[in-house]
Amino acid sequence: MNSKSAPHRSYSLNKEQIPPVIVEKLNDIERINLKEKIKKKLKQKGAVIVSHYYTDSDLQLLADETGGCVSDSLDMARFGFESNAKTLVVCGVKFMGETAKILNPEKRILMPDLNANCSLDIGCPEDEFSKFCDAHPDHVVVVYANTSAAVKARADWMVTSGSAVNVIKYLAANNKKIIWAPDKYLGDYVQKKSGAEMLIWQGSCVVHEEFKGNELESLRKIHPDAKVLVHPESPSSVIAQADMVGSTTAIIKAVTKMDAKKFIVATDKGIFHKMQEAANNKILIEAPTAGKGATCISCAHCPWMAMNSLRKLLHILETGKNEIFVEKNIINRARGSIEKLLKFTRGNERAGLSNDA
Ligand code: SF4
Repeated sequence: MNSKSAPHRSYSLNKEQIPPVIVEKLNDIERINLKEKIKKKLKQKGAVIVSHYYTDSDLQLLADETGGCVSDSLDMARFGFESNAKTLVVCGVKFMGETAKILNPEKRILMPDLNANCSLDIGCPEDEFSKFCDAHPDHVVVVYANTSAAVKARADWMVTSGSAVNVIKYLAANNKKIIWAPDKYLGDYVQKKSGAEMLIWQGSCVVHEEFKGNELESLRKIHPDAKVLVHPESPSSVIAQADMVGSTTAIIKAVTKMDAKKFIVATDKGIFHKMQEAANNKILIEAPTAGKGATCISCAHCPWMAMNSLRKLLHILETGKNEIFVEKNIINRARGSIEKLLKFTRGNERAGLSNDA
């Protein structure tokens, strides 16, 4: 084993740093009225919705109905880049809005709630991370998409969960030593798949970290015919039981491709909307976050993703509030690490290789 953990403290959040999950409750009339108003405003402003799979199903439906996109972070970035819209309304978390701004500095980027963050982003402060990188100048710095613009600016590469293994294998094949940040579970998974020499930052996702290996084992005994689909931000005890480990896009594809009726799914339950849309004859079961030793607050739903709502979306379209700004010098540096990935994944696609496994 070539990997060693970065010699510093854990960057997982403590409970006080995690907001409660508050999901907007609407009756049918309120929902219809809000959607109609939002549709009008989107047209008036020349705006499109760019939403992540983990947001509320109302937002996902609206994005699809209005020519926007619902996707993972890589395809959100690509869609925003290729769109002709003057305004991108990013329904997701802060780093997704920043990535959209970095790739589209001339476009206006709005977000329903500027407090929507990510435990991985919070757990990788730029000043501490930079010091760590400075202490290992012979390493290539690879950061996950779930980081601030400033951390991306410090990196050589940005990767997503779907592209991480291929990028690290490519770097390892070129004898590169790697600093990986911020997710320790994804870093561990990628290291095992690639055999690369990696220093791994000790951050974690508050949603995926809560999936429990022991309880999953018990659930599999109740549903022996179910296939287990796992996002690689989950602990190794959960990954070890997976029939498929992959990005959100790969998980949605798997439910249509795999010859099973039932699936246990270890990722944010917001993804069930698209999974059900893709295969409504399949039975989807949430992977367990509770049971012996349960500590879960988020219970398979991201508290920050839940901050996106129809009401807030209408509010920002009416007021123009919550615009994302990123300093020019950070944009210039961060863009290099993101574009490297976009070029790499396009090369893989041309070669017929998958970017979402
Ligand atoms: S689900 Fe986890 S990784 Fe995704 S935004 Fe929420 S905290 Fe971050």
